[in-house]
Amino acid sequence: MAFELPALPYDRNALEPYLSAETLDYHYGKHHRAHIDELNGLIAGTDEAGKSLESLIHSSSGRLLNQACEAWNHTFYWHCLSPGAGGEPSGKLAAAIEGRFGSFEAFKVEFSSRAIDHFGVGWIWLLGNDQTGVEILTTQDADTPIARGQPPLLGIDLWEHAYYIDYRHARGKYIENLWALINWDFVAQNLD
Ligand code: MN
Repeated sequence: MAFELPALPYDRNALEPYLSAETLDYHYGKHHRAHIDELNGLIAGTDEAGKSLESLIHSSSGRLLNQACEAWNHTFYWHCLSPGAGGEPSGKLAAAIEGRFGSFEAFKVEFSSRAIDHFGVGWIWLLGNDQTGVEILTTQDADTPIARGQPPLLGIDLWEHAYYIDYRHARGKYIENLWALINWDFVAQNLD
């Protein structure tokens, strides 16, 4: 069974004006699809065919590992965003964020600054943590916390292709606008 590009959980223009339909056409329709297509090419006719993405992430290396990571990361990213979302988390997630960072506002400042400071391409994550409740992690290139056995709560793409059409070089503007799209209900589900 080959992997299929998972359907977007909303229309391609649904995230406007924060992320344009053109960005989704390229990021989902071309970049994400290319990861799925290349992954399928790499596993076709091999012992890896039929394995889950998670299994491939744990058992492979090199180009195959990178494609499996990016296939997983992008599907997760689309679910972290939603039209008409944003605002603030509630319940257990809000308590965990306040416990670790002092307040939701302080968390946003810390998360944004870590995203802006991340050198080169990669991802920024919010992870659950037994000791502190939640923590921020950035990973380089295709790397994913799934490879470390740490399922993330929230993941944001920091590759330039995620924001260049709408924000050009301004990663900070992309992050600032993305707060209006964060699907806190999805993030909270991942904490359970
Ligand atoms: Mn991407």
